[in-house]
Formats: sequence, C-alpha cells, structure tokens
Amino acid sequence: MQTINIDDLRKELDEIKDEAKKDFSQNLTIKNANQIKAKYLGSKSQITSFKKYMKDLKPEDKPALGKIINEIQAEIEGNFNEKIKALKTEELNAKLASEKIDVSLPSQNSKSGFIHPLDEVTQEMTQIFTELGFSLVDGPEVENSYYNFTALNTGEDHPARDEQDTFYTELGSEILLRSHTSSIQIRAMEKLKPPFRIFGHGRVYRNEEVNARKMPFFHQLEIMMVDKNVSFGHMKWFLNEFLNRFFGKNIPTRLRPDYFPFTEPSAELDAECVFCNGKGCNTCGGKGWLELMGCGMVDPNVLEMAGIDSKKYSGFAAGLGLERFTMLKHKINDIRLLFNGDQRLYS
Ligand SMILES: [Zn+2]
Repeated sequence: MQTINIDDLRKELDEIKDEAKKDFSQNLTIKNANQIKAKYLGSKSQITSFKKYMKDLKPEDKPALGKIINEIQAEIEGNFNEKIKALKTEELNAKLASEKIDVSLPSQNSKSGFIHPLDEVTQEMTQIFTELGFSLVDGPEVENSYYNFTALNTGEDHPARDEQDTFYTELGSEILLRSHTSSIQIRAMEKLKPPFRIFGHGRVYRNEEVNARKMPFFHQLEIMMVDKNVSFGHMKWFLNEFLNRFFGKNIPTRLRPDYFPFTEPSAELDAECVFCNGKGCNTCGGKGWLELMGCGMVDPNVLEMAGIDSKKYSGFAAGLGLERFTMLKHKINDIRLLFNGDQRLYS
C-alpha cells in the first residue's frame, strides 16, 4: 500500500487555494461568484475529495489533513464573501448613479398653500386698526339674547329681532348664534373704562337663503371708540383713514342717513367705486358708489346699559362685512366661491 505524504497533500491543496483566489479576483457577476464557490466548496469539489486520502495517511497525520481542509475551505469562503460584498457595493453604486435625483430641480405639480383671501383681508384690517390705536377684543359665537339684542337697544318686541332672524339653539330661546359682532363690543364695554378704542371680528349668522350674495353666515368686523367729546367728525376721519390705507389710495366717501337700533344718529358709508372711480360699472351697478359699512354714534342707552356715563362720554361705532371687502379687493363676484374650496379662485 502506497503511503501518502501529508506535506504533498498540503502543497496540492495550497495550489487549489491560490487558484480559487485567482478565480475570485476576476471580473465577475454575483452569479459567477456563486458558481466558483460551488466549484471549490461544494460536496463534490476537488477539496472535499481530498478526504479520501485520509485512510492512506499515517495515523498521526490524519488530524492534520482535516485541519488543512477546514482552513483552506474557510479561506476560500472568506474570498467569496469579500467578492460578494464588493459586487453588491458596486451594484448599489451603479443603481444610485442611474437613479440620481436632482433635489434642486423644481417639481412639476406642486402648489404651495397660502392664506385664504378672507383671512388675508381680516389680517390686513387688524393691522390697520391696530395702527390706528384700536385694541382687538373677542367674544363667543354662541351668545345669549341679552348680548346679541337687549344690550344693543333691541328689546323683546323690537322689529330688528325679526330682521336679523338668526339661528336659535335647542338650549332655549335665549341661546342663539350671534347675528353680529356688536355683542363682542358690549362684553368689552362692560369690562373697560373709557376712553377706549376697540375692534372685534368673527363669524356671524343670519337665517338667510344661499345665493351669489348671501350665505347663512358671514364675517363681520366692528370698531368702537368711546371718549369725551367724540363726534361724527372723528368717526368720519377714522373711517376714511381706514379705507385709504386698505385700498391704498384716497377714496371719496359720503354718509347717508340710515337706521340701526344701537346708534343714533346712524349712517351708511358709501365710497366712490374703486373699480370705475365713480363713472359707473357692473360692480357698483352703474351708480359709481359702493355701500361699504354701517356706522353711527353709539346710542346713549347702549352706553348706559354697559355702565358708561353717557353725559360724560360719547362714542362712535362702525361695522363692515369682511366678505364684501374681500370680494371687492380680489374682484370675486360670487360669495359662495369663498367657501367651496374651488382652487380656480386662487390661481
Ligand atoms: Zn363702479
């Protein structure tokens, strides 16, 4: 029987190992690398076949052969893992390069949001009245009839209660959705000591049918100034100053007598049409004037009910519809467009 030398086997195995290393160093795909792995480490590989020499070795060399085979297999396995890792990195880099996205390019379909025109107008007016020395006050949308009517000189049987037919709650006839922001002013007047200049704004409700000019709710902004010797002249100056700042130009105005239960005398303020400069157009119905706001001197009864001495103090108040001003400023012809979310309004 021929005796096999362990050193010869080691030499042959080393050669196979070098050959494997060379194979893995070539330009390969992952599939190629797996094929090479199978060739050297598979159950029918050349290396595995070396186990058959075990029986021909001297007993003291037998463990050495097993060890050599294991070491070589481990090394080839290491070569394989390294190659796979390199190939995967290469693959990922190629993929990243081919799918590169330039984040600095503008997207094709992005629309950035912006402030609703009604809010924008409210913010502008808030800015103007704040600059004119008025302080912002607030009040609840669900009111009781005292603040909405009684304290505003509108008693139980007053016809204005019908005019402003509002939404009553199931909590009782006293609890309703406010029909104007004047209730905010009453609440503020009770707490403040004259002199003061205040304004409040918010959503108000009227039991009305929906059409191009009316909704069952809208937004109002009201101002009030109470001091000694406040006159119609002060009111006119403040309202004109506000309009000039809001529309960005000096606009002629006129006051027409009107009626409100909480002011005496009362007036409607018209401004020369900002679209046709008084010549007459569709917006102003050919009149050349636009009705913009109700105003007047605060009725002494209203001052007294809020605990203000009407012999010592007087005041003016004015109220406007925010939708109307928004529609005028943005040339919107249908009030419903402000609330139906139609994107074309904003494009
Ligand atoms: Zn006009």
